[in-house]
Formats: sequence, C-alpha cells, structure tokens
Amino acid sequence: MPELPEVEVLARHLRPLLPGRTIREVAVYRPKVLQPTAIAPFKKILRGAKFLGLTRRGKYLLFELRPKNSREKIILLGHLGMTGKMFLARKQAPLPKHAAVVFDLGAESFIYEDPRYFGRLTLDLSSVEKLGPEPLAPSFTAELFAHGLKRSRQPVKVKLLDQSLLAGVGNIYASEALFRAGISPRRAANRLTLAQTQKLWRAIRRVLTEATTCGSTIPLKFSAGNSDGLFYFGRAAGSSDYYTERLRVYNRAETPCPKCESPVRRIVQAGRSTFFCPHCQK
Ligand SMILES: [Zn+2]
Repeated sequence: MPELPEVEVLARHLRPLLPGRTIREVAVYRPKVLQPTAIAPFKKILRGAKFLGLTRRGKYLLFELRPKNSREKIILLGHLGMTGKMFLARKQAPLPKHAAVVFDLGAESFIYEDPRYFGRLTLDLSSVEKLGPEPLAPSFTAELFAHGLKRSRQPVKVKLLDQSLLAGVGNIYASEALFRAGISPRRAANRLTLAQTQKLWRAIRRVLTEATTCGSTIPLKFSAGNSDGLFYFGRAAGSSDYYTERLRVYNRAETPCPKCESPVRRIVQAGRSTFFCPHCQK
C-alpha cells in the first residue's frame, strides 16, 4: 500500500503536468470511489474545471481546481488505496481494465485506476480533517510526538498506524522506523522512555525522507506507458536504486537481521504483519 513517500513521489511527478489544464469531460466507471460525493454533482463541478495545483497531506493527494465560471477554488481528494494509480495517458490509448475515473484533458486523459477498489477520488474532505501532523513538517516536534504516544496503551507499532497521531506512516515504514530506533513493536506506546521517543521520532523522519528521495518501496507503475513515461516503477528521477533494496526488516521474515544476523521475525498485530528483530529491538 502506498504510504507517505510513494504519494509524495507521485505528487511531485504529477505536479508540473497538471496546472492550467482543463477537464473537458468526466467519465465515472466506478461510482464507489467518489463516495460520499454522488456522480451528478461530481461531474457538474468538475466538467470545465481547471487544475491549479497539487499538494499532499498524509497519504492523500489534494488537487486544487477552479470550476468553470467560479472564483472559488475547490479541492479534489485522491487516495490510492491498496494498488491505485493516477497517471496521464494519450487519449487514444486503451483504457486500463480497472479505470475508475477518467478526465478528458484534450490530447491526454488523466486516469485514476483502482484494481482493488480501496481508493478514493472525491470532493468530500472529511478524512483529511481528522489527520494528525505531517511527520516531515517542522511543526512535528519530538515533544508533540511524545505527547501523542503518552495517551495510548496500544503497542507502539499499532499506534504508529493511527493517522491522527501522525499522517502518512503505514505498515512498511512503521516496521522500518521501529527497527532503526531499536524499539520492540510490542512495547506499549505510553511506556516508551523519552530517549526512545526521540530515537523513534528521528527514525521516522529519516526513513520517510530516504524513501522519498529514492522513489518508492513498491512498484507503483504510474503510467500505462505513454506520455508520462519518465517514471514507471516508483524510481524517482535521478535515483540510482529502488527503495525495496534498502528495506531492512519489512517483508524479510527469516532472513538475517542486517545488524546482528539473527532471523527477522514476522508477527501479526491488529491484523497486520509486523517485521522486527527480537534481538535488536527491546
Ligand atoms: Zn538484529
């Protein structure tokens, strides 16, 4: 599932491609992704709207648009879900099988493809309003992080996935950050020492920054192979390697820990896999 770094890489990729372009027509193939926005108002507001900008908040993309005959800007919220993709393609190119929403931009189309139906493209912003701080923002201090952890008895790995604690960390980077900080994923969030909290805060920021620089952990395959062919599998422009090769514990059960060589373990917490080294993480 794409997390903050993957969404940030996608935002940086799409950001220069969209401003000034007008949506000539809106096709909705999977109305579920618009929820709770209904098809009719979605089409009415977006038909004729012009893209102004694109930002990211947590794992969400925020497309800024100005509707036709309006001075008010609106925000269109995008979320990739498990395996969603957003990309531009030549209009003549065949539509992908799981195209959910397509905007006709003239010579090209903006395509939102969602094979597993977990993503969103909606005018409803309520999910963003509930988000906690951006982990890479200067305002996200170690003190603020400590304050959030102190109020929870959940295992720290589970708490890190709580998007109201901080926005954008998911299963991959939670495991990686805990490994780098040397903290057991099973430790209760409110039992972390101040030193551990600070280590974890630093590890989260480092792991997210590295992943954003490298591109991506997972194949995002943004383009079906057309006009935005600059990047396909989440390799950031100018980056030399895929981030997958840099993951230290995630999805590496039974392989030697890169620090101590004892086998990495996989456990399940709150229904999600956690990977860690029982020797290095206390
Ligand atoms: Zn180890």
